[in-house]
Formats: sequence, C-alpha cells, structure tokens
Amino acid sequence: MITVRVPAKVNVQLGVGGLRADGFHGLANVFFAVALGDEVTASPVPAGEGVTLTCSGPDAGVVPLDDSNLAARAARLLAAHHGIADPGVHLHIAKAIPVAGGMAGGSADGAAALVACDALWQLDTPMETLLELAAELGSDVPFALLGGVALGRGRGEILEPLPVEGTFHWVFAVADGGLSTPAVFRECDRLREEAGTGSGESDVPEPDAEPALLAALADGDAVALAAALTNDLQPAALSLRPALAATLRAGTEAGALGALVSGSGPTCAFLAKDADGAAAVAEALRASGTCRTAHATYGPVPGAGVLA
Ligand code: ATP
Repeated sequence: MITVRVPAKVNVQLGVGGLRADGFHGLANVFFAVALGDEVTASPVPAGEGVTLTCSGPDAGVVPLDDSNLAARAARLLAAHHGIADPGVHLHIAKAIPVAGGMAGGSADGAAALVACDALWQLDTPMETLLELAAELGSDVPFALLGGVALGRGRGEILEPLPVEGTFHWVFAVADGGLSTPAVFRECDRLREEAGTGSGESDVPEPDAEPALLAALADGDAVALAAALTNDLQPAALSLRPALAATLRAGTEAGALGALVSGSGPTCAFLAKDADGAAAVAEALRASGTCRTAHATYGPVPGAGVLA
C-alpha cells in the first residue's frame, strides 16, 4: 500500500492572454504549492479487477467516483503507457482541497495517482515521462508533480521552477459550492468584450511574469509579494459570485497583507505576515460569516511525494 501526499496550488500571478484559435488562453501563471493538500493511497487488487475509487473528507460527496475522476484517469494512463493491459488498483482519496475551488484539487489527485501507482507497480518511470503524462491529463497536473513555485506558460503546462526564499503564510477561505473553470474563462472573455477591449489573441497583450513578483518571491518578502499579487480571472469570478467581495474585504480587514481570488475561484487566498497572523486572519474569516470555513497554511512545499 502506497500513500502519496500532494499540495494544492494558489496562483500568485494569473495573467490571462487572448482566446486562441485552439480554444485555450495563453497564460503567464505563477503557481505556488501550499501545505493544504490531499492524500491518495494506492492498494493492490488482483490484476483484471480494474481501477476502483473511494473518497473521504468534507467534500467527498461532490467528488465524481466514475471514470472522469482524474486519479482514475491517471492510473489508466500510466498503465497504458507501460503496456499493462489489465491494471488492478484501488485508490482512496483523502480530500482536504476544496472541490472546484480554484486550487487544482482534481489535478493534484491526478498527479498523486501517477506517483502512487508508479511506486505500487514498481515502474520507476522517469520524472520527465511522468511530467509528459501529467500534461496529457490536464494543464495544472504537471505543477502538482513539481511543487515549489513555478512559472507556467502555454496552457500552464510548460513549467519553469522559480527561486524562492523562506516560507510564506497563507489563509484560504472556502466558499459554499464551486465555480466551473471554463465558465470563469468564458466570463473573462465576455467582460473583455463588454469593456470594448476585445478578447482575442490580437486584442489582449501576451501576459508575462511580473518582475516585482519574481523579486518578492526570491527575496522572501511577504509585504512585496502581497503588493504584487494579481489574478486576471478575479473580475470574472467576482462577476459570477459577487459575494466573494465581502470575503476578500473580511480577510483584509482582519490584517491580511494581501488578498486575491485563487485561480478561477471561488476560494479566496490571503497572504499573512507570519504563522500567528495567518491563524488570526483564519479565525476572523470563520467568524465573519462570509465563507464556509478558512484554513491557515504555508508554502512553498514540494510536489506529490510518497509518505514514508
Ligand atoms: P482548477 O483550479 O485546476 O481549474 P479546481 O480546483 O477549480 O480546478 P477541481 O477541484 O479540480 O477544481 O474540480 C473541478 C472538477 O473536476 C470537479 O467539479 C469534478 O467534477 C472534477 N474532478 C475530477 N477528478 C476530481 C478529483 N479527484 N477531485 C475533485 N474533483 C475532480
């Protein structure tokens, strides 16, 4: 039996370019892995019994346990890559990452399942190959293998690890219900059209990593990082879920250095000065009535890894 721990991500910068002909947006995506994470356990079942799934945790009821689950798809993809015709594995997901919350929880489970099945089946797949398989599963899956802090380009899957100093303290305010990532991108395009700027590749400048943000990460400077946080999807997430404005305000009023919607939302992320500051912001958010719950955590942390 193999258990893999895998981090959630927050995008400290999410720069969204114009809509491309292939239906994707060019991104400048600075991923940051946080200790809030899932655990995926792979247990052997006799060959030919297929891939079975269970899930536990507060959001377990809304996690699909059919073939669409990214953990199951990852196990099958790894087996197919190695020519294993009749894989047998049971995967249990201990879910702590909010579902459809903009923290790439499904992608994290996909990455964790790749690592767990690779160890269970003693395949020793090189990291480079795992990263290629991860990119086939989804744009956010490779980062969950890598962890740390990285710049994602293309659809987010071309990754460049970034230097970072020390530990940053975060709070995540979990909303009731999720937001569909494709719906948030569509709303982003719609708002750009409405504003008259256009939403195509020729209308929107190609996004790039902000030098001030990269310097703040490399210096371990939380105040500077807070000032540099940006998310081009935030107006769209707020348009679809106006109540998030009150959540962002509650965290800022409680002393957070900076606040933004995490990825496509609706989870809101807050940067705190230190661990005590994060605990205080989380407590204030829980008491504010503007979110379902709030978690204090930290990062960066490594990507998907087998627990000893
Ligand atoms: P992202 O930030 O990568 O766009 P997200 O964090 O907003 O994604 P996820 O938690 O990954 O959202 O879930 C998005 C959808 O993916 C869910 O609504 C669910 O139908 C599907 N899904 C597939 N596999 C999983 C999984 N292992 N855990 C959670 N959701 C999954």
